[in-house]
Amino acid sequence: MSVQIGISETFPKTTQLVQRGKAINPLSNPKGQKFECELCGKPAYIQCKNCRLTYYCDKDHETIDFRGIHEKICQLIIPLRTPLGDFGSEEERAYREKQTRIRQMNLLEITKIEAHKKLFESQFDLAIPAALQALRFSMDVYGQDSIELVPSYLLLGEASIGLKQFSQAEDYLSLAKWAVLKADSACHPSIRAQLHRNLGLMFSSQGNYDAALLQLANDIFFSSIAKSPDHITTSGGYFQLGNVFQKLGRLEDATATFDKVISIWKLFLKEKTKFLNEAQQAEAVQILTTIHSFRSVHMNSSVTSAAEVMYVLAQLYNTCNKFDKAKACAERALETYESALGRDHSMTVEVKIFYKGIVVDDKDSSPSSRIQSANSKSRKHSINGMMRRTSSVNSASPSH
Ligand SMILES: [Zn+2]
Ligand SMILES: [Zn+2]
Repeated sequence: MSVQIGISETFPKTTQLVQRGKAINPLSNPKGQKFECELCGKPAYIQCKNCRLTYYCDKDHETIDFRGIHEKICQLIIPLRTPLGDFGSEEERAYREKQTRIRQMNLLEITKIEAHKKLFESQFDLAIPAALQALRFSMDVYGQDSIELVPSYLLLGEASIGLKQFSQAEDYLSLAKWAVLKADSACHPSIRAQLHRNLGLMFSSQGNYDAALLQLANDIFFSSIAKSPDHITTSGGYFQLGNVFQKLGRLEDATATFDKVISIWKLFLKEKTKFLNEAQQAEAVQILTTIHSFRSVHMNSSVTSAAEVMYVLAQLYNTCNKFDKAKACAERALETYESALGRDHSMTVEVKIFYKGIVVDDKDSSPSSRIQSANSKSRKHSINGMMRRTSSVNSASPSH
């Protein structure tokens, strides 16, 4: 199948990606062979000054790739683009191969998270380079026909939907569907959920809301099997479902669906150990801010309904160690609770205690003082929320 990945120019065919990944290694290129652009595969004339192993057709593609993913992986790809060589004992060669595999897995993780993050931030053009690299590393690690390629196809599909390049998106989703069909029962429900979510997003973007609702219901069904109906991954499906209800003018359905999303996040933020990678953080912020706007507009009869979301957002930021934002959101929630319910109401008291526990020194918010204060008396408060990059991609993490 011919697939073109597009920002505005011609991008490579998916099937060419692997070959290009190999050909771009200068040491494995025959003398005189021209280098190809990392992004589009056209003849390259510019070299990355840092790794000196990555090439571009022009300045634009260099910039997009750098901002999209290369700045995060420039140094990490050096060992992978330097030939392993045949020297050493069999054990030493096996060791080097194992190291290569570990590096590829690590880069697959980084590129996937970065692509997800860019998608949640609606930076669709920048998500493409990250998703492309994720596809390349998936192919390196799992081979060209693996079901493990599906998440990367979906990332590319979703970026294309965001850029309104629907025929391209359909090509990617077809590749994903085909891989899922071939894998049949071997396909994990979380991958099926991701596929249905992408199809739902595409139909929704095209204004085909009935088809979108069906796909998103399937997303929630498979996500509930893969995780649970109350898992934050499943909340992403409910969130998209609510968006479609809203577009259809079915506000009661949208309200109920968004209520479900908020209850899932409240539950999650109460857990003692909660970890969110950067992509999950970006998704959570997108979900909560959207629902906050919805409740502010459509639920103004209940003054505290928007404040409730603001309080959840404050807890999220606190979990992510973004204390300034946590404090600002908590302050807004507190003001509303105080004026609507009074100072002595249990919710007002709860938000006030939370607000006072957030680690921010307003007078001196220099990074060093913030680190100090985070390490001092309120350490207890923030320790549960300490972010750490998960060591394996949450295969069920929503693909948008
Ligand atoms: Zn190019
Ligand atoms: Zn570089």
